[in-house]
Amino acid sequence: MKNYVFLILCVSAFNFENQIITRTFARNMSTVIYDSPIFGPIHSRRLGISLGINLLPKGGKFCSFDCIYCECGLNSERRTKNPLPTADEVVETLESKLQELSAEGITPDVLTFAGNGEPTLHPAFPEIVERVKQVRDIYCPSAKMSILSNATQIRRPEIREALMHFDNNILKLDTVCPEYINLVDQPQGHYDVEEQIRCLEQFRGNCIIQTMLMKGQYNGHNLDNTGEAYIAPYLQALQRIKPRAVMLYTLDRETPVAGLQKADADIMNAIAERIRELGIEVSVSY
Ligand code: SF4
Repeated sequence: MKNYVFLILCVSAFNFENQIITRTFARNMSTVIYDSPIFGPIHSRRLGISLGINLLPKGGKFCSFDCIYCECGLNSERRTKNPLPTADEVVETLESKLQELSAEGITPDVLTFAGNGEPTLHPAFPEIVERVKQVRDIYCPSAKMSILSNATQIRRPEIREALMHFDNNILKLDTVCPEYINLVDQPQGHYDVEEQIRCLEQFRGNCIIQTMLMKGQYNGHNLDNTGEAYIAPYLQALQRIKPRAVMLYTLDRETPVAGLQKADADIMNAIAERIRELGIEVSVSY
């Protein structure tokens, strides 16, 4: 049986509701892997109509993290020999999709860079952002541009500059504890938390911090990042970064490794309250 089915479900990590996605089954877990540079549109009560832009290879995963909670699965399980889409391929596919939607009387409310891994790894990322903006201005000038990024590339000035073009520049910071990040996010190259915070400060508020909270066990380690030892330095980092908003979320679906558990809703709400007390807007998904 060809391993693709279409399902309607909620992906709280992306804060999308009722989205239609492609599910690929890998081992015992179902993973979210897209087969095109453009996916959707996804209809959300909160965000409206969102068109997804996937700058990673079709049918596989390409990421500078290897999060043990990743919806795409672990890197080693989702490798592909498919190439990255070219800038022309992304822009032409987007243009053709927007023409198709326009003929149906549909105008997207948001264009979201997300998909099979980390979008900023694409070598033509700044060029693609610029060209997508131009296409957006022609076909749907009122649509916002959003990105979900793990922020591993933000020490590169050209990536920070490109990210500044987004209305919703959503950057991952699960904790500021290096040991926890090595255990859970598993950076695949250079990653220094203090450097990350300094680079995040350089957005001068034009970023949204996305943080995964959870508990459970992995390889004999406690995964609970909601305790004071994690939250107190995390709040100090937020005070330095001064993001426009924070998105707290927890596990929503199966994970590639066993032993992970959702964070408690009341604990997440209490953390959110402390973030609000810093004067930062916060949303909580659980
Ligand atoms: S950063 Fe995102 S795509 Fe990459 S491994 Fe983590 S959850 Fe998966």
